[in-house]
Amino acid sequence: MKPLSLYIHIPFCVKKCLYCDFPSYGGCENVFEDYVSSLISEIKETKSNFSQYEIKSVFLGGGTPSILPPKLTGKIMDTVFNSFNIANDVEITTEANPKTVDEIKLREYKAMDINRISFGVQAWQNDILKSLGRIHTIDDFIKNMAQARDIGFKNINADIMFALPNQTLSDWEETLEKIMKLNPEHISAYSLIIEDGTPFGKMYDEGKLKICDEALDREMYYLAKEMMRDKGYHQYEISNFAKEGFECYHNKVYWKCDEYMGYGLGAHSYFNGERFNNTYDMDKYISSKGLYSIIKENRDKLEITEMYGEFMFMGLRMTEGISKERFFEKFGKTVYDIYKNEIEYLKDMKLIKETESNIMLTDRGIDVSNTVFEKFII
Ligand code: SF4
Repeated sequence: MKPLSLYIHIPFCVKKCLYCDFPSYGGCENVFEDYVSSLISEIKETKSNFSQYEIKSVFLGGGTPSILPPKLTGKIMDTVFNSFNIANDVEITTEANPKTVDEIKLREYKAMDINRISFGVQAWQNDILKSLGRIHTIDDFIKNMAQARDIGFKNINADIMFALPNQTLSDWEETLEKIMKLNPEHISAYSLIIEDGTPFGKMYDEGKLKICDEALDREMYYLAKEMMRDKGYHQYEISNFAKEGFECYHNKVYWKCDEYMGYGLGAHSYFNGERFNNTYDMDKYISSKGLYSIIKENRDKLEITEMYGEFMFMGLRMTEGISKERFFEKFGKTVYDIYKNEIEYLKDMKLIKETESNIMLTDRGIDVSNTVFEKFII
């Protein structure tokens, strides 16, 4: 059977964080049931297309999936298990915001066969968490982490952020040190991006947000790489670090341009050479009752040149880079047939390097990764 991954979007949060431009909404408790009912219908409507596929990973993302009452999460997971062929070694992740989970909820997740929890922690300092508009304190996370371990979760991720307004290098060092003491198997470390249309974007435009300069941003990034390497976290992607054997399968599906189906509001899919997404209109999504003909938007059959480009700039995000053999298997041409000039130029600039089997970014290439990726975007 062919491998497939599922992304399930839960677009609800207790309240919006000040930096966030993800499709998620606060104060929507009154539509949880209707939303989940449309989501379930959507999954059921498409299931017959995937009888020849085996589900290797499921990712409940958001938003804040952990905001849902366990009864509703359970209905979603029952539908997934009843609709697809699920691999024995499937990775099932839910994102969780500390403060929205407790021991009971975590136990219910375990009973649903969710085997990976991804906590949105962001920073160790409560004043920084508050200034980001996060709803939790660090004690909430510490408590959740202990509960998850007691219940038997063996695969936990902590999302943390750097280059935050007013965050010092020593704040960042403390975040890294204290998080690693709690020993999660996986850590994602993202640099804050100020997005237009968010409260931070507005504050920035009005000169009311002191942002981190480029030099400090890089210093924080290098510190993270060094400290995590020293504690046995292997960097496998620009922003992702894991203990041996705990790289996130689901994330790698995106970077390897493998197939996945997205369900829920605004969820994106890549299947059969097509990229498409669901409507971002909540009323439309709920009233559609999951009907594909109504919710599917932006069907885009990729040109072969777009596929080459995506394979390169997504794959180069991983420290292992792109596999030359996989490029040939996928496209019937060597990577040099298509990108000889670009590869030579980037090698001359010391932004990429290669082994016999792979091509990957250098440390310098990681720092200017967007410039490298642009070479492969048509
Ligand atoms: S909890 Fe996550 S998805 Fe929700 S507003 Fe904050 S950053 Fe965005």
